[in-house]
Amino acid sequence: DSIANQIAAGEVVQRPASVVKELLENSIDAQATQIQVILREAGRTLIQIIDNGIGMSQTDARLSFERHATSKIRKSDDLFKIRTMGFRGEALASIAAIAQVELKTKKEEDELGTLIRIEASEIKSQETVACPTGTSFSIKNLFFNVPARRNFLKSNSVEMRHVLDEFQRIALAHPEVALSLYHNDTEIFNLQSGKLVRRIVDIYGKSYREQLASCQEETSYINVRGYIGKPEFARKTRGEQYFFVNQRFIRHSYMHHAVITAFDGTIPEGSHPFYVLFIDIDPAHIDINIHPTKTEIKFDDERSVYAIIMAAVKKAVGVYNL
Ligand code: ADP
Ligand code: MG
Repeated sequence: DSIANQIAAGEVVQRPASVVKELLENSIDAQATQIQVILREAGRTLIQIIDNGIGMSQTDARLSFERHATSKIRKSDDLFKIRTMGFRGEALASIAAIAQVELKTKKEEDELGTLIRIEASEIKSQETVACPTGTSFSIKNLFFNVPARRNFLKSNSVEMRHVLDEFQRIALAHPEVALSLYHNDTEIFNLQSGKLVRRIVDIYGKSYREQLASCQEETSYINVRGYIGKPEFARKTRGEQYFFVNQRFIRHSYMHHAVITAFDGTIPEGSHPFYVLFIDIDPAHIDINIHPTKTEIKFDDERSVYAIIMAAVKKAVGVYNL
């Protein structure tokens, strides 16, 4: 049902950046250690993502475009054990409803891979091809069949900004994965795998290295780790504040408040400290299934999370306030 897919697409795919996010998450879930992103015209005409992950069998490749045909969750109970980025099984079906998609994929144990072309939810061709292990998705002409949505897109530089936001979030969340990004044949990022601090420096520049204090606080409920910027490094502009819960980027104004409160008095009013904080928690204690883009979550014990984040950041800030 292509109408249902188009409606779902409206929630999952707002712009090229949404596609980049969903495909990168799938590559991460497929245990890729190397991912390449290639864009043309801020992703309007081409978004290609090539990974060296586990790939798909011929049957799974075809199934992957079916709505709710996720391989990651089997029973509703699994919803509270989620370790993967995806679980709704909506992304590929949604993307395929509003673009021309080409999927090339192969599993290690298979000699040949599968090439599928699908356009506006309709499979155009399927063949067996020789290709490396892993998966390559090409998304061409996003919203080609939904002019209203296409016209709603902003300038290339604004759309690119959104793509970079998503790319950087994934890159920060997964420093162990090598990631590159090309736009109109220009290399924007070429990130080697390594430690978090190296990833931060590779993304933001060498000047950050001297500005970071490490954070670490652990209880039986959660583990908080990461880096904060020194108080004097706080900026007027927002944007370089990251929470990752089980390596998923989330927005959480209450937890942000915990960080700001921990900085209390050390940064000027209205300025924003840099932070990249990882919260690791048993998935049974969180609910991620609130919104299709999965950037909002609920903790079962918000107050504890707040207190632990505040303690971790306070300790790190304290290093600079002796
Ligand atoms: P979800 O990620 O929520 O399961 P998606 O629509 O994003 O749903 O993907 C559907 C299915 O396609 C996934 O469950 C997975 O089995 C398969 N898949 C998607 N991308 C990849 C990839 N890069 N490598 C291997 N399998 C993939
Ligand atoms: Mg997915």
